[in-house]
Amino acid sequence: MARNGSAGVRLKKCPKCGGEIEISFLNQYSYVHKLTKSGRISKRYTKEDNGTMEVSVAGCRTCGANWGDGEFSIDEDGYFWDFKYSGEGRL
Ligand SMILES: [Zn+2]
Repeated sequence: MARNGSAGVRLKKCPKCGGEIEISFLNQYSYVHKLTKSGRISKRYTKEDNGTMEVSVAGCRTCGANWGDGEFSIDEDGYFWDFKYSGEGRL
């Protein structure tokens, strides 16, 4: 997969500091409250899973390097491809 005309670079660790990369897949949930007989919103609620937002972000906790949606990709084999830091003095 390519972005901005350049192919990504497969990474095993943070290109800035060598730290661990974490990838977060964002999901959306709703807390659903009922309106009670008194006309007030109930304190109780049910949590509803509205599924994935199809957005993922990644980052390194050590140095703060981060990837927004579209700045990296995970391929079918589970490898991490960097489109953001590639070419910038990577390890
Ligand atoms: Zn780092």
